[in-house]
Amino acid sequence: MDVATGVDPLETLREIERVAAEFEDLPPEVTVKEDLLRRGVWFTPAALQRGHTFARKSYFIFSFDHLPLSQLDELVRNHAPEEIALEGGPRGFRRVVVSVRLNPMSPWLVDACEDGSVMLRCGTEDVAGVSFAPQPAYYGEVLPDGTPITEVAPSIEWGYLLYLTVFRMCQYFGQEEECQFCDINRNFKQQREDGRAYHAIKPIDRLLAALDRVVASGATPGAYTLTGGSVTTKLDGLDEASFYVRYAEAIEARFPGRWLGKMVVQALPRADVLRIRRSGIRIYHPNYEVWDPALFEVLCPGKARYVGRSTWMARILDAAEVFTPAGVIPNFVAGIEMAKPHGFRTEEEAWKSTAEGLDYFMRHGVMPRFTTWCPEPLSVLGRENGPASLRYHVGLLRVWRDMHARHGLLAPPGYGQAGIGNAVFSVSSFMDVIRPGTAVATLPC
Ligand code: SF4
Repeated sequence: MDVATGVDPLETLREIERVAAEFEDLPPEVTVKEDLLRRGVWFTPAALQRGHTFARKSYFIFSFDHLPLSQLDELVRNHAPEEIALEGGPRGFRRVVVSVRLNPMSPWLVDACEDGSVMLRCGTEDVAGVSFAPQPAYYGEVLPDGTPITEVAPSIEWGYLLYLTVFRMCQYFGQEEECQFCDINRNFKQQREDGRAYHAIKPIDRLLAALDRVVASGATPGAYTLTGGSVTTKLDGLDEASFYVRYAEAIEARFPGRWLGKMVVQALPRADVLRIRRSGIRIYHPNYEVWDPALFEVLCPGKARYVGRSTWMARILDAAEVFTPAGVIPNFVAGIEMAKPHGFRTEEEAWKSTAEGLDYFMRHGVMPRFTTWCPEPLSVLGRENGPASLRYHVGLLRVWRDMHARHGLLAPPGYGQAGIGNAVFSVSSFMDVIRPGTAVATLPC
């Protein structure tokens, strides 16, 4: 037992071995990646202060931490990397990219070695070599109005994706409406209280100025995501589609077709979806979060009340006629369906439910993706729950991979390359478990 964390690293390693053995047809690296995503990771000062440059955690939308900022050590919370890659080490890991979720109680520790390298450790055992997300050339710049460029256009997925959160709050507000796993509104508050530049709405001029600097720096992201909270009434006098579409129109007018445009908004009526497509966006993310009908009502009360589950699901398929099926990628938060008190009791029940949802969409060519749930303490669900089991998460990857193969689908577009050693998607391993060499689906321009 590690006195500092209260978690037995030996038991953690035994669990890793047990789960990897049960799912031996999956790359073993994803078992460690999923454990880091669900439990979090911590860093020693020596690992962070080696004098190297790397992209620091930007808090690009949610906190994705296991403790509030105020309870995290100052050095780590200000200097932790956005992502790490695990590669090499005693187990000969092929590269996997992992989003950093801070947790000082985690059995996983990133530490510096005497030879200057950095290692992921569990207790006293070295597990994999670690590198930190490369720092894009434009990081550190400040815009003319004084805003740090990383507040406006942070980069994730190892530099592949510009993550443009243009509305940092959500109009689903309070326990009765907000998605129970989501801390967007409370994270906004804690970032402001911590004195960070963190603006509720991004002015379009500021966003374009930031993208000008991205281009001038020579950085070569492949895609951008326009995202933020839902709009249930009006924002800046606009409905949800109108609010987000004007950003896409401005970006595509200034940089036509330069990056693959993606947008995360609600499942909207067809007329709005057509406007989003015409603005130049090529991938639409109407996130359904959880498949089970009863859990959708409880865990997404705002979405259930304002849109309704059956309408939400029908609109996802309707959008496939506008974007093509490969251009519609709804997110599922992997793990919330196991959270107490309403979640499934067994992994098998949860896998069966999610498999039903995956089959429903994939038989129409729509490929849902996962974000591995981080139980953030500022969310309703995260206050009372630890993460779902490692066995659940790894088994779910097998469910996704097998369903994807059964329907003969290509790799989803907009996530870079697929397959172990090549994938850069960092908040789930679903891209890591796709057979290497699988072609990526193409999209119309
Ligand atoms: S719709 Fe739900 S998940 Fe999305 S920002 Fe609002 S509360 Fe969070």
